Amino acid sequence: MSKKESQDHNVKKASKKKEKVEEKAPKQEEQVEEKPVQETEETLAPKTEEVTESEEVLDDASDEEVVEEESEEVEVKTNPSEFESWVPKTRLGRLVKEGVISNIDEILSKGYRILEPEIVDYLIPNLEKELILVGQAKGKFGGGSRRVFRQTQKKTAEGNKPKFSTAAVCGDMNGHVGIGFGKSKDTVPAREKAIKQAKLNIIKIKRGCGSWECACGEPHSIPFKVSGKCGSVTVEILPAPKGKGIVAEKEIQKILKLAGITDVWVNSSGQARKKINLIKATFDALKKLSKIKVFDEEQIKSLGIVDGAISQKVEIEKN
Ligand SMILES: [Zn+2]
Repeated sequence: MSKKESQDHNVKKASKKKEKVEEKAPKQEEQVEEKPVQETEETLAPKTEEVTESEEVLDDASDEEVVEEESEEVEVKTNPSEFESWVPKTRLGRLVKEGVISNIDEILSKGYRILEPEIVDYLIPNLEKELILVGQAKGKFGGGSRRVFRQTQKKTAEGNKPKFSTAAVCGDMNGHVGIGFGKSKDTVPAREKAIKQAKLNIIKIKRGCGSWECACGEPHSIPFKVSGKCGSVTVEILPAPKGKGIVAEKEIQKILKLAGITDVWVNSSGQARKKINLIKATFDALKKLSKIKVFDEEQIKSLGIVDGAISQKVEIEKN
């Protein structure tokens, strides 16, 4: 009987174990199944919300942009008498205000660093500013049209934080040019930062006539071929004969026009769709142009090299 009992016990135990195993098994499966379902539900729901939020933000921003762009020109052009209220903070600023330094070329050729944008305003009263189209519209119907502001977004717990960046050029159309970049949470401060930076980055360029087709010896083009680089983009600027105009991409044209160059060829290679790198490469080329030193006086005469502003005599002769 003891054997039978033991067998019975074994059977019972086995059945109990089986039950236990069966009980456990479905539980685990359930747990395994439940977890991903919950996760997906949790993750899916807020994602859809975020998308709708971002769309709303984008629509609002694009509306604001259009309104501000219209009012830009008026704001930039009206310059009240800022100079009287200007209190210089640097030694260079004080020298400029006292009238010790009256020429921007003096500062640039000595290599002083300009730390106040008012110095440039003071010494170049007819400074022109222009914004470069570095951004792109995010429209529903294709979009892609060029905008002044490049808009980027950061995702945070509170929502999407948009940021605007822009690029500005300033120049006197007489041998001086500068570019600057600005980034901010709003469009107006970004633009102001960019213009301020452009003034501080001002350089003087060399002009002349290095074209073998022309060889007139007047400073309407550049004296030699130069190239600049930024990222994958390489920009090559070549002297062109008189009357050719600036043969370049539109945003490069703005820079060269404000620099005071009238006839030039521009080749670009690399990913030139990214306007920021294209602009930086162009400015790099102009910087190199200003650094080239020519000591041979015959060469200076034959190429008609002028460093910085053209003196009034040449302008009269031109007219
Ligand atoms: Zn020429």
